[in-house]
Amino acid sequence: MRAQARRRAGLPVTGEEPEDVGSELFRELARMVTTLAEIQGLRSFTLPYPDLAQRALDRTVMHCIDVGRTPPRSLPELWEWCRTKPAGDPLFAVPASLVTSDATLVHPGGRMPTRSCLELASHGVGGGVAAHARALLDDLEARCGTGERYRRCRRFLARHPVVHQQDRFGSGWNRDVWSRVKDLYGEFPEHLLAGGRFLRCPSCELPALPRDGTTPVSGPSSTNEVIWCEGENCPRDAPPELIRDPEQALILHRSLRMFLALPHRTEEAVEDVLDRAGVGREPLPQCLSAYRLTGTGTRIVDIQVHDRLQPALLAAHVAHGTPLADLTLVVVPGQLAGRDDYREAFTEALPPLIRGRLVLTTPVDLVPALNCPQREEKDDA
Ligand SMILES: [Zn+2]
Repeated sequence: MRAQARRRAGLPVTGEEPEDVGSELFRELARMVTTLAEIQGLRSFTLPYPDLAQRALDRTVMHCIDVGRTPPRSLPELWEWCRTKPAGDPLFAVPASLVTSDATLVHPGGRMPTRSCLELASHGVGGGVAAHARALLDDLEARCGTGERYRRCRRFLARHPVVHQQDRFGSGWNRDVWSRVKDLYGEFPEHLLAGGRFLRCPSCELPALPRDGTTPVSGPSSTNEVIWCEGENCPRDAPPELIRDPEQALILHRSLRMFLALPHRTEEAVEDVLDRAGVGREPLPQCLSAYRLTGTGTRIVDIQVHDRLQPALLAAHVAHGTPLADLTLVVVPGQLAGRDDYREAFTEALPPLIRGRLVLTTPVDLVPALNCPQREEKDDA
């Protein structure tokens, strides 16, 4: 049995590079953090631990013994490791070509999975959290019956990661839409509250928390040093909105917050750019946010919209997730694409034979990328 297969089967692996074991352990911890954050509050780690947590703890202990490190003694301690030890820590030694070396799995301020954690937990067989979001939307589409009804429901979810009781008395409220989507919302988990109150980031509209755990007050500072939000490092021109009665609010399932609501602003920018350029398109059902352009002749051109922090994981997702068109434009927020090495890391993570068919771009650069003559050259390799 090969080393990887033995690892998947939970069998000991001998003669293996320690880096591989650490990297695989980091992925397992990402899956553990993601799952535990869904099933229980973070302060209630009591024995017996859930099976996957016990397994992850056992493997961490074994790995620590192998590499001469002092192992964690409990699940709370392992959780703290996930908060403080980044992917590049020698214990994990995750290659920077897969995950940026400063990425941690539990956010220091938020006490819950980081975006990098959710993206890593969506990497590989099964598709994890992102695939769960896709499955929820598939189910919604099946229940909606008509394309237009589904599109209205999907747009509502993307624009309303949080619904407050008072929203339901607003002028634009659609009872038909709400009756179809309300099952995708739940009560506010305790770990998203501070002092019984809830903050909403004005930029991503997702939950936010004061980093120091204090009770939020009206008009807190909006800087990322003081406030953590699920979007992580949002540019904000206003302080977070304070909601005093979270028991009257419902929150969208985490997978849809991350993989539908978060990229939605970019998706709307893409639609706006295509409308203004007069470019027709049809939604592609197998992706969370993707279109096939119309009027492109024999050349098939797709657009996928994503908002993911980890460029190499994004590259793996688009390269292996769906059948590729002649040209696929992968649109991410300009703020992400402008980061050091993001574009390079994305391109380098693509299999060389398909690099010419997958192009990373932003809403602003989308139309120039479509019209770029060199993209006419099909890569037949
Ligand atoms: Zn935000």
